[in-house]
Order: sequence, then C-alpha cells, then structure tokens
Amino acid sequence: MAREYMKSWQVGDVTVTRIVELWDFQDNINMTIPDATPEEVIALRWLHPHYATSDGRQRINFQGFVVQASHDSGSRTIVVDSCIGAGRQRDFDVFCDLPEGFLEDLESLGVSRLDVDTVMCTHLHFDHVGWNTYKDPATGEYRPTFPNARYLFGRKEYEAWQDTIRHDGHHSDTHLVECVDPIVALGMADFIEPDHRIAAGDSWAIHCEPSHGHTPGHVHVHISSRGEHAVITGDLMHHPMQCAMPHRPATFDMDQETGRQTRMAFVDKYADSGVLVIGAHFAEPTAGHMVRDAAGEVWFRGLGL
Ligand SMILES: [Zn+2]
Repeated sequence: MAREYMKSWQVGDVTVTRIVELWDFQDNINMTIPDATPEEVIALRWLHPHYATSDGRQRINFQGFVVQASHDSGSRTIVVDSCIGAGRQRDFDVFCDLPEGFLEDLESLGVSRLDVDTVMCTHLHFDHVGWNTYKDPATGEYRPTFPNARYLFGRKEYEAWQDTIRHDGHHSDTHLVECVDPIVALGMADFIEPDHRIAAGDSWAIHCEPSHGHTPGHVHVHISSRGEHAVITGDLMHHPMQCAMPHRPATFDMDQETGRQTRMAFVDKYADSGVLVIGAHFAEPTAGHMVRDAAGEVWFRGLGL
C-alpha cells in the first residue's frame, strides 16, 4: 500500500493516523445496507464522488488507526483495529493473501511494532484483528505482531464469541484461531468493560463507548484533548450514507434491532456536535463531521469537502 494513502488528524495533543489495507473497495450499496437502492445513493449528491460511484455503488476502505500521544513519563502508541493482516485466507478473495504493507506504513511513521503499547479491537471481526498476529515463516505459528503491547478485547465481546458465535455454524472462527487465541494464550489480553479508559495524559484521554449491535460487545473509541473531540466508529456504521439513514438495517449487524438503535443514538449524539467522526470503513475523506441541513437531514461532510 502506497504511503500516500496514509493520513493523520490532530485532536488537540493526540495524533490519529490512518493505515489503509484495502483502498476504495467498490461494491453494491446493499452489501452494507440491504434495502438500499442505487437510485437512493445517486440521489444523495453529497456522497459523490468520494463515497459512491456515479452508478450508485459504495466506495469503502479497510483500514486501521494509530493513535499517538505523550505524557510526562513518555509517549503512548495505540493501534485501534488491526485490519485484515497479510497472507490470510478468508471467506472472500479480496481479503486473501494481502501484502505486508501495514507494518511498512507503520514504520514510515517512525513507529516500530515494538513501540506499540496497546492494541484496541473495537470488536472481533476478521478485519479488525488481523495484524494482532503474524505467521512466523519458520514455524508456521501465529505470533504477536506487537510483543510489548497489551491487547484490549471487550469482555462481553470475547465471551460471546467463545460461548456461542464460535460454535453456531454461521461464523468461521479461523480469524480467532489465528489472531485472538494466540494473544489470550500468551496472557497478553485484557478483557475490558465497554466504557474502559484506554489511556490518559494531562491534556488528553482516550476511552471506549459502548455501541453494541454490530457485534454483542462492540465499542467505539472517543478521543478528547484541549476541548477537541474525535470518535473512531468501529463498525457501528460502514458507510457515510448511514449517517443519513441510521434507522435502516445494516447487513453485518449481528443484532439488527440493537444495531439500529445504537446507530440512531450515535447520530443523534454527534450530529452538529463539532466532534470529528473517523469512519472505520469510510473512504477518503475518512474523517469529517455529521451535520444537519436546514430540513433536519443529517449528512456527512468529509474534511476538505
Ligand atoms: Zn469491519
């Protein structure tokens, strides 16, 4: 992945950088919103051209984020959602055998994988845990990519996957075997509550906010510093169109009704709030603001648009 796809945003004293693993993936809008039509997409002019194609298809990214901040005794380097991973075999070809770019992109920031102190997974889908581990070419074992990090998994999320999802016959658990189980086995996982405080310094704080529905223990990440705020959405929404229609069902929500309620509450809370919304799957511009127009309709204004 070329470095020009990387992008950083400043939230007070905190820097958030996007690392993209799949850029501008285009597909029918009903991949994420099952009852949406191309005509609806075409009608929402603000989606074009960045978030949708002229024939009404969606454009999304698969990406993770590096959050960096300093405090008195040093600095913090936090990976929020570790993407898909290199050389994986997943259910769809587009996610298989990806190259190693994620770590190279990280290094281009001056960050070694040894510097990462925390890996925060908003939920345990394959495209948010991938780089938790890498495959050791010598032994074939999956080893922690970030050996000095604590890995944060939602307690409720982890337990749900262990108890039921893993064995329901509908969900492959290969990504858990490769990207979550080895971390837990090594004692590197912390099982957190949905309002967990991830890190804080004198002028900044990073904490989780609950947004269950997409998965049983899904959370998103809230960053605040010097009066500025940003949220990294995780998968409480996949596409900016969902800012305008949060009430519509989302294909990948495991609990459709809870997902809907979560999305509506999120839009209600953060529209016209000035809070920077960083969409886990939003194409460029990935960050922007939810804004209400004169008619009360919410739209997503990507930075620079
Ligand atoms: Zn995702």
